[in-house]
Formats: sequence, structure tokens, C-alpha cells
Amino acid sequence: MARTTPFYIIGNWKSNKTVESAVQWFQDMQTLWRKEPLDVSGVIIILCPSTLHLTTLTSLVKLFTLPLQFGAQDISPNLSGAFTGDVSGEMLASLVDYTLIGHSERRKYHAENESELQKKVDQAAKAGIEPVYCVQSAEMTIPQNCKIVAYEPVWAIGTGKAETAENAGQVAGQLKSRHPQLSTIIYGGSVTHENVVSYVQTAALDGVLPGGASLDAQKFYELIRQVTQAIRAPT
Ligand code: PEP
Repeated sequence: MARTTPFYIIGNWKSNKTVESAVQWFQDMQTLWRKEPLDVSGVIIILCPSTLHLTTLTSLVKLFTLPLQFGAQDISPNLSGAFTGDVSGEMLASLVDYTLIGHSERRKYHAENESELQKKVDQAAKAGIEPVYCVQSAEMTIPQNCKIVAYEPVWAIGTGKAETAENAGQVAGQLKSRHPQLSTIIYGGSVTHENVVSYVQTAALDGVLPGGASLDAQKFYELIRQVTQAIRAPT
């Protein structure tokens, strides 16, 4: 399906991978890419590893010349200072272009509320990092200064039960009409190389956010390949 705007693929590694297995993933991806490079024009690929791995992986991506950008999985609501364990926007700014904010796992396990999430969005803006704001339904509050939103129904995350592309497209339509400032709506929840084409074929969706399917380099490569083919397929 021909698109006039880029299609996003945002891989979320969550709390997975040691330094060694993260480097191995890059070596595997490099091998796959050299064997069969993909035409990724019209596709933006962003990987969100643990913050721990960002320094190593940003160097590797340059060394291997892979077409990947980086995102953080979270950002501190504070600029800097006595906030033990937090990673701030100014610390992330040289390493990432994007950050997830408000992922349902952070809302659930870290009791993140809307006022804290607004502070995180503000810190991202100060640091020049683009927030990918995660919501679990069309009714949720979205800060004014967000342009990219990921619709991720909780029941679909990590369950293997993906939302249909038709339903996800309907929610994307509702989000766009409620929040005209949004430029990009992506869907996340059990996206794999086997179902990703249905989301590419849904005009209201501008991308996907695979978690589990980004952990294996071969499966992630295959997912990217499916997207590159589908965005060029005649409608
Ligand atoms: C996610 O990481 O937000 C996610 C949607 O995970 P999964 O693809 O594994 O459901």
C-alpha cells in the first residue's frame, strides 16, 4: 500500500538481554542485513533497548551501518539531581531520538500517573527527544505536546492475542479526531512478522510497536522485510 508518510517499527526490548546477548543480536542482524539488505525508504526503525545498552549499541549501529535509530523505554520527570535510579533527558539526549512514555507496564508497576507523565513529556521536549506516548484506549488523556501515540490495549500485550487491524484502525481514527495535533498513531500488542502486513494495510495506522517479536534478530528482520514489501505493494 503506497504511503505518503513513513511507517514506524518500534521494537521494545523491555527488561531483556544482557550486554552480551544485546551485542549478539546486533551481530545477527548485521549478518542478515549483509546477506540481503532491505530497502527501508519510507520506514523508520527504532529500537528501545535497556538504557544500560545504549552506549554500546549506538556505537555498534554506526560500525555496522544498520538503518536503526534508538529510543529509551522511559525518561525521568526531572532534569537532573537527587533522583536515584532515574535517567534524565539530558543524559539520554546524545543517545536516543525517541522515548516511550506511559507504557502500560510502567503505569502498572511504577504507578505512573498523568501528572508525572506530563512532566516526562516536558522533559523529553526540553532534551529534544520525541515522545512516543502510550495509551491503552482512545479515551485516555494525551499531553498537548505529543505528536506520536502508540495504542496498546493491555489485553493484547505479550499475550499472542493481537487486536485486529480493523479495530486498531478504528481506535486510531478516534484518536486522530479527538487529538488533531497527533501526526502518527501506531499499534502495539502481539505484533509479529506473521500479522504485521494487516497493520501496514490499514491507512489509519502509521506503524507498529512489537515487544516480543523484536527480541530475536531473525524474527525482527523478517518483520521489517514484510513491512518493506507491503508498503510497496500495489493497492
Ligand atoms: C510492547 O512491548 O509494548 C508490546 C506490545 O509487547 P508485545 O509485542 O510482546 O505484545
